[in-house]
Amino acid sequence: MNNNKINFKKSDNVLVISGDDKGKKGKIVDIFPKKMQVIIEGVNFLKKHTKPTQKIPQGGVIKQEGSLHISNIRLICNKCNKPTTIKRKRIKEGKRVRVCKKCGEIIDKV
Ligand SMILES: [Zn+2]
Repeated sequence: MNNNKINFKKSDNVLVISGDDKGKKGKIVDIFPKKMQVIIEGVNFLKKHTKPTQKIPQGGVIKQEGSLHISNIRLICNKCNKPTTIKRKRIKEGKRVRVCKKCGEIIDKV
């Protein structure tokens, strides 16, 4: 199981480091642990064709965020404000925290 490898959480601020959206920043709004992918607010828009609905009787094309693999993103540390990788650390019995690899500060509890 890969589930533990995702160190990201919803509402993390992240930076895209590769692909078409390289350099964009956004907030994680959804996570797919099995696919190791996340959806970031305002990043990686895909066009999606929709069927006609009552609201949009003619149907149409809507833009929706597509998922990105976690290897393409870095967390923006809320302590040093730099894009960083995260490591997990156990501080007390049963307590785990996420730690910034750049500044070594604790980001939050897991
Ligand atoms: Zn940091």
